[in-house]
Amino acid sequence: MAIDFSLTPEQRQLQLSARRFAADVLSGVGPAMQHLATPRERFQATRPMYEALVREGFMRRLVPQPFGGAGTGMIDMAIVTEEFYAVDVNVSLTMLANLLGLTPIFMAGSPAQQQQFISPFLQAHGAPLAALANSEPGGSANFAAPSPGEGTRTVARLEGDEWVIDGAKQWVSSATGWEGDGADVLSVVCRTDAPDAPHGSISIIAVPKGSQGIVTVRDLDALGHRGHLTPHFRLQGVRVPRDNLIGPVGGGQQIVEGSFTGTAALVGIMGVALMRAAFDFALNFAKTERRGGVLPIIEHQAVGYALADAKTKLEAARYLGWRACHAMDQMAPGGPELALQSKIFGSEAAVSVITRLMQVVGVDSYSHDLPLAGLLQDAIALPLFDGGNMGVRRRQLHGILKDDQYNSLTAAGTA
Ligand SMILES: Cc1cc2nc3c(=O)[nH]c(=O)nc-3n(C[C@H](O)[C@H](O)[C@H](O)COP(=O)(O)OP(=O)(O)OC[C@H]3O[C@@H](n4cnc5c(N)ncnc54)[C@H](O)[C@@H]3O)c2cc1C
Repeated sequence: MAIDFSLTPEQRQLQLSARRFAADVLSGVGPAMQHLATPRERFQATRPMYEALVREGFMRRLVPQPFGGAGTGMIDMAIVTEEFYAVDVNVSLTMLANLLGLTPIFMAGSPAQQQQFISPFLQAHGAPLAALANSEPGGSANFAAPSPGEGTRTVARLEGDEWVIDGAKQWVSSATGWEGDGADVLSVVCRTDAPDAPHGSISIIAVPKGSQGIVTVRDLDALGHRGHLTPHFRLQGVRVPRDNLIGPVGGGQQIVEGSFTGTAALVGIMGVALMRAAFDFALNFAKTERRGGVLPIIEHQAVGYALADAKTKLEAARYLGWRACHAMDQMAPGGPELALQSKIFGSEAAVSVITRLMQVVGVDSYSHDLPLAGLLQDAIALPLFDGGNMGVRRRQLHGILKDDQYNSLTAAGTA
């Protein structure tokens, strides 16, 4: 009886409450931002739904219990992620990106930093935002590259008791905040020992909201996730106290990579959610539409088999994601491998399955009158963000496989 994929009564309760919240509140995100022209206007239009999510206690769930939150682990997070993402990606990603911004503080923050930066996320009011600012103009797949690679270009130097940060970042979720004055906390990846080889000098510095010198260049107008903010911004002589360094000087690479490990498993689940939304739509379409013929199109074998293939990939991605989350919760040695596999498989399955389901529905799926075009726009982000599958995630998996100590049964827990 050790392998059991059924949910506990508490998890089932969580699933149903997340499903209800998504149907009641998150379903309003699309209509609220539909006709707004700029990324910032669309982002701001999502704020009431985001505030509702905070009030309902979903934000507190992001924060693990040892830090005062209600977080009960990755599987529970996966359950909420699937229910939310199947209805709206925008507010959902804004919420989940906080996890990326806060994880360096969970992992390596001092008690004082944890107290200062986590507390806004424990309240049942407001609209707190946290961001991990790693990506830079010119690329970040090689953020820790040794010389002569540039690696991370943003630099911080000590002046008296202050860090002074200069550089530029882009694609950073929610980084410039609701009003352009910054997220509540920005975990900035930078080089603190610029003349040295980049890989030994990467650090993370917490920049609180309202710090002078965060200048928006522009808000990127992305293909999908249209109500989620990903600005390009400069850090111009941003000054923060020396004590805002998270972890040791030069210890940032490990923290960045650790922060992205947890989110990898959840990106696989985001793919599951988008496949689920597309599948439910396509199945109903196939059962009800005759397209001028005699029978509903599901009676055509080609259509039925395409639906069968789509559902098979969806289920496979869900259980790989759950397994990865379970391994992470257990701190099992196979966790990082499984998280990467969940990210790569779930994200790429989503793009291919939704594309195939568009063929099932046919040409009408190509219009925004039906939901599949929008779901594909959102799905295309999944292999690209949270560390691109080409430049980051397969490379990390390759690194695991190359290790002399690697055992192929570790991921299954049967070594
Ligand atoms: C909606 C959204 C939200 C995001 N949120 C955040 C966030 O909160 N914080 C943040 O920091 N970033 C964020 N990003 C950026 C995201 O995490 C990217 O995955 C990250 O910037 C890395 O991009 P990349 O892999 O394309 O790297 P790039 O450096 O731009 O590489 C581009 C391409 O070059 C090739 N390449 C480069 N180096 C190698 C190599 N060594 N080996 C093999 N191929 C290589 C690959 O083909 C790769 O795809 C977000 C992006 C989006 C779309």
